[in-house]
Amino acid sequence: MENHTARSHHVAIVGSGPSGFYAAAALLDAADSDSGLDVRVDMYDRLATPWGLVRAGVAPDHPKIKSVSSQYDKTAEREGFRFFGHVSLGEDVTRDELLERYDAIVYAVGSQTERRLGIPGEDLPGSIASVDFVGWYNGHPDFVDLAPPLDTERAVVIGAGNVALDVARMLLLPEADLRATDTADHALDALVGSGVREALICGRRGPREAAFTTTELRELADIDDLAVVVDPEQVPAGIADDDTLPKGTRRNLDILRGFAENGPDPDAGHRMEFRFYRSPVEIRGDGKVEEIVLGINRLETGEDGRTRAVDTGERETVPTGLVLRAVGYKGLALPDVPFDESSGTVPHTEGRIDGDEHTREYVVGWIKRGPTGIIGTNKKDANETVRHVLADLAEREPIEHADDIEAWLRDRCPDLVDQAGWRAIDEHERGRGEPHGRPRVKVVSRDELIKLSRP
Ligand code: NAP
Repeated sequence: MENHTARSHHVAIVGSGPSGFYAAAALLDAADSDSGLDVRVDMYDRLATPWGLVRAGVAPDHPKIKSVSSQYDKTAEREGFRFFGHVSLGEDVTRDELLERYDAIVYAVGSQTERRLGIPGEDLPGSIASVDFVGWYNGHPDFVDLAPPLDTERAVVIGAGNVALDVARMLLLPEADLRATDTADHALDALVGSGVREALICGRRGPREAAFTTTELRELADIDDLAVVVDPEQVPAGIADDDTLPKGTRRNLDILRGFAENGPDPDAGHRMEFRFYRSPVEIRGDGKVEEIVLGINRLETGEDGRTRAVDTGERETVPTGLVLRAVGYKGLALPDVPFDESSGTVPHTEGRIDGDEHTREYVVGWIKRGPTGIIGTNKKDANETVRHVLADLAEREPIEHADDIEAWLRDRCPDLVDQAGWRAIDEHERGRGEPHGRPRVKVVSRDELIKLSRP
């Protein structure tokens, strides 16, 4: 652990997911350049482990996407960087305490909760937010005890985005594919023994409006033992020929049309069905989910040019024991920081938080722009914010803080996990995975993580 000098500018980044790491790299680049600034970065996370959604969100059968973490490792090894895990803002340390010690705070906390459907039965056991389900199979310590009911033959997934595809795929992957991943062991056992044979993905608008990305749709064709079912009437011949549509949409329509044309593999043991123009109206059951009522929609184009789903009044009832709500994530307010409830983001101008009291506070990633985009989107987003952080730091002398930050933190948080502690956890997990050809076997208990992190 290097000595952080009192005359450097110190920046705290709260949150260690992709946007936090891209911000850290951009800040440290300034220290390496001839900007004249000596910027040091302390990155905080409420978990003992870094990487945010790369560890706890990206589907385990997408190791290539997860491999971006090696870039974050490189950033973490740079001079001027420290990781302080298992420190919760608002519980272990306050915003004011950070402001007393840092020249700037960059919030990179993502969107930590779910958007609600607002329909009867949404909270019945067996109706689960994808945020929780994704955390469960990825070994996020908050969701270890979720125990989703997998003794049902059919799962219904609400939403037509990449998270809907992720959760549907994870339910239907062949055992051999699952066993090669870093899916948390509790989830691996449950998924291998699962009775789910079918996932029905419901989009409230049509195939043209679906939010899937092409790579994610295309890969479905390569999954063993999986029949992909698309109603040819929903993707008629020629649907992809409309050259007023964006290229990505046309490619997606081509793929969906291909599935419809070829028809599902009749011998496959698993089935993933896309059903468009369907909104969830009610989830029903006696003490647990037993069926979902879907409303059938038609589309209407509003004055803003956006296509809206309009209820036709027709209904369809689908028996199921598991409903996964994948309709988007939502940000949570930070203590004493302005917040816009409707968008679930912090009001800002190019990353500078709005309001006179917040001149040394910034945002990056989903808490800045909402839960959209892929991992790489966060790089440009973080660079925009960091440009402003650096311009502001250049105008200010580093603040004088009375105490040594690390000593203060260790006193405050005896279970703090530093970079060396995370390294020890990482090596342990990778070591456990190696004999089984898995990237890692995740440790999911907070106590065990803390124990492993100690020298
Ligand atoms: P998303 O892309 O915003 O998709 C949300 C879906 O939910 C949309 O189809 C939306 O339909 C639907 N929806 C919203 N409210 C609804 C309601 N009340 N009833 C029915 N449907 C509703 O969100 P996401 O899937 O959570 O993904 C978040 C971000 O992470 C996206 O940018 C995504 O691409 C990214 N991601 C990427 C990957 C990858 O690259 N492999 C994997 C996972 C996630 P409308 O369009 O009609 O609103």
